[in-house]
Amino acid sequence: MQTHVIVKLLTGSEKHGLLARSLNPESDHIELYRGDESAPESHRFDAISFIKILGKPNLADAFCEDEFFEDVTTVTGDRFHLRLKRSERLESGFYGYPTDLDSDFKSIFFTNSGLRQRHHDRPIGEMLTQSGLVQPADVDEALTEQKKLREKRVGEILIEKNHLPETVVEHAIGNARKHSNSRNRIRVGEILIEAGLVTRKQVDEALASQTSGRRKRIGAILVDRGLITEEQLLTALARKFELQVVDLKQTPPQPAAVRRLSREMIEKMQVLPLEIRGTRLVVATSNPTDPTIIENLRFVANCPIELVVASARQIAAQISEIFASQAGAVEELIDELDDIDVQVEEEVEADKVTETDSKVINLVNKILLDAHKRGVSDIHFEPGMGPLPLKVRYRKDGICTQVHQISTTYKAAIISRVKIIAKLDIAEHRRPQSGKIMIKHGRERIEYRVEITPTIGGQEDAVLRVLSAARIYPLDQIGFSAKNLERMRAAIQKPYGIILCVGPTGSGKTTTLHSALSEINQPDRKIWTAEDPVEISQEGLRQVQVFPKIGFTFDEALRSFLRADPDVIMIGEMRDPVTAKTAIGASLTGHLVFSTLHTNSAPETVVRLIEMGMDPFNFADAMLAIVAQRLTRRLCPECKEPYHPKRTEYDELVEAYGREQFQRDEMPAFSKGLTLMRAKGCEACEGQGYSGRIAIHELMANSPQIKQAIKHNSGVLKTQEIAIEQGMSTLRMDGIQKIFLGLTDLTQINRVAL
Ligand SMILES: [Zn+2]
Repeated sequence: MQTHVIVKLLTGSEKHGLLARSLNPESDHIELYRGDESAPESHRFDAISFIKILGKPNLADAFCEDEFFEDVTTVTGDRFHLRLKRSERLESGFYGYPTDLDSDFKSIFFTNSGLRQRHHDRPIGEMLTQSGLVQPADVDEALTEQKKLREKRVGEILIEKNHLPETVVEHAIGNARKHSNSRNRIRVGEILIEAGLVTRKQVDEALASQTSGRRKRIGAILVDRGLITEEQLLTALARKFELQVVDLKQTPPQPAAVRRLSREMIEKMQVLPLEIRGTRLVVATSNPTDPTIIENLRFVANCPIELVVASARQIAAQISEIFASQAGAVEELIDELDDIDVQVEEEVEADKVTETDSKVINLVNKILLDAHKRGVSDIHFEPGMGPLPLKVRYRKDGICTQVHQISTTYKAAIISRVKIIAKLDIAEHRRPQSGKIMIKHGRERIEYRVEITPTIGGQEDAVLRVLSAARIYPLDQIGFSAKNLERMRAAIQKPYGIILCVGPTGSGKTTTLHSALSEINQPDRKIWTAEDPVEISQEGLRQVQVFPKIGFTFDEALRSFLRADPDVIMIGEMRDPVTAKTAIGASLTGHLVFSTLHTNSAPETVVRLIEMGMDPFNFADAMLAIVAQRLTRRLCPECKEPYHPKRTEYDELVEAYGREQFQRDEMPAFSKGLTLMRAKGCEACEGQGYSGRIAIHELMANSPQIKQAIKHNSGVLKTQEIAIEQGMSTLRMDGIQKIFLGLTDLTQINRVAL
């Protein structure tokens, strides 16, 4: 993927362009391709104010613990209100992320030399909500208003709206900061000594027993030894961390809160989700000193966590009460889907994924891949009302069927998980959202379009369209006849030359080219592709999305590839004579080039290229093969029925094929035993008699005779005649061969190959 950026130089001038390679903050410069130049421009960081990386903002992880807000002013006088990540520390500058969905950039890199001022600005709205001064809805409203007012701060708006004295807001902000800074990793023993509950000697003895036996928490040991009560322990810890102590007998957990975490997570960590407070999930723990708790919970629940303290005994009792009646259906489902290994492309750090939250992740991944493997077109996640389970339905060939039922505990987690990998806003539950998921399975990449729709009862449905076009089929599985497969394989094994795939839009040209590329996609070959859009991605290929709007055209990409040491080049389409000329030139100078054209047949392609101004001699030398293709409906394999055709029907097929060629190609003779297949209709094909599609091909391979025909510009009919003599099957002939193979029928072939 190319990165479109705007670079602001210290001089104040702006440069639009594409990064030659991804932005590396460790280096001291960037290289930029601009629309009008062939070589990249180099710009040193110390001459740059900022680099705006254009694209759709990703607000999915807004308000996570790691983030804070800042106002940034550059020496060029540009001002930004941004989200920054605490964990991102770089030598040469820093990244900021947009705070609203309307931004035209997804991130922005400020160089040290370009920075004038950073003004720390924590999510004030969040602090105020937390302090109970305002409701989350008020903050939302203020944020919306801020978008209009731009310059105004959330705090100011809230003061106006809620008529709170400024000092109250400032005090709340001050408290929230103090609160967040005091949560350091402090040892329980020290806290208890400090609180005057135990002596250092008692702690040391407890610690000694801890190392000798199985690891047990120091607090628990001191309680076991009768040195302190659990209440004393909790009170001391809560005071130290400024946390609330909760009596679970008085405050039972809300079911909605419990559903935010998996049963396994709750049981393993011995925590109890209590309520949802604003954007935060309030969780009780008896172990507030463990810094990993917040991190892990936040990851699974997908929202900020507020810890409160409760006794271990009370937490354990509540947990067993909640889950007493629940079956382990999820484990069974995961086992059922177990042979699947899949990787989701996402930006979640691996070290945050714990064993338990991987359960939800695993389950979602497996469902996505399972659907893809089963040729499903849509996956429906439908959470039931209240205690009802989440249903998963697949649509295949137009029919929806329920395939899984998942325990109600996982409802929220599964939908949130889908939102996370689709890079959607997990905090948004009221409005529909659309996104995209890419998963990687071996060398395959599968794409899903995601639609999240709020449904009654505060639920959200997720419907995923599986983009089967993103599948890479091996060359021998895209319907080539044995002869065409052999000729195609011979062509793609040549070290240089040009292979063209032609046909109308939607005839499967890109699929065919990618199948061909997958066969020669080896580590010893450098393969560049320029596509618009990149529909299929393949590991090992270097794929480029062209942007004709900003002058990054196929021709531009092609010229860039030629400087980038290619063996194989795929150009999505030869739209204009310049691109065609460059592509043919490249194929004559030692490169294997693949491309497409919108022509009807292989011989017509030759004529069209010559009309476009290509040198016939050059093209005659460059051409390896031209494949014209169409997609046609396939007889439903479930219900198609064999029949013996009438003599007249057989003769019609022979005439359509060409009587002479029919005999030469040793096509089946008419006999009593001759059977063809016809459409019938069943449940699987919705009574249509057809399901899925097959490709028909016309492959013209080069030969000395074809070369002569091209050089002499012999015209479509003459070239076709020679090609047929050389063994080419026209689209119609290939289609009729597939009728005799029982794959389709004459009605379908007549539609696409007249
Ligand atoms: Zn059928």
